[in-house]
Amino acid sequence: MRTAIYPGSFDPPTNGHCDIIKRSSKLFDHVIVAVAENSEKVYTFTVEQRVKMLKDIVKPFNNITVEHFNGLLVEYAKLKSAVTIIRGLRALSDFEYEFELALMNRHLNCDVDTIFMMTDEHYSFVRSSLVKEVARLGGDISDKVPPIVEKYLREHYSK
Ligand code: ADP
Repeated sequence: MRTAIYPGSFDPPTNGHCDIIKRSSKLFDHVIVAVAENSEKVYTFTVEQRVKMLKDIVKPFNNITVEHFNGLLVEYAKLKSAVTIIRGLRALSDFEYEFELALMNRHLNCDVDTIFMMTDEHYSFVRSSLVKEVARLGGDISDKVPPIVEKYLREHYSK
């Protein structure tokens, strides 16, 4: 069985993430969407909230599961018998960081390879931080995030 891991902060998930999830479900037998829990990072949504949103999003796909992880991604991949890490690429600005990350992960475990999926043109400028900023200022983000995420954002910023 070909298992791949799609790791990220997903703080919150956007339609850009959903597009990568949907397309990767066709390429692998099993995709684990792995929600990062990094104690050094400050998140807007708790790991439980991010997992909950993603579980709702992946409901239509029977080969996708959602989990959370902390620690080294390559160790987590080994634990899950996954040999592929999926990452998304938007503009050139993503490249340098993703390139370093992929090389470091390969250095840590050469059995795990990273593959990159190009963003859909509709989502090339969609990122979690920008969506949050627009939501915070009361702008319309309904075509940038799934309905469940819009609900969480509305609740979060109405406090
Ligand atoms: P991280 O903190 O690990 O970068 P993110 O949730 O920001 O977590 O992103 C997870 C992955 O999804 C990254 O590989 C990122 O490039 C990708 N991604 C985020 N938004 C998009 C998008 N609009 N289109 C394609 N890939 C995306």
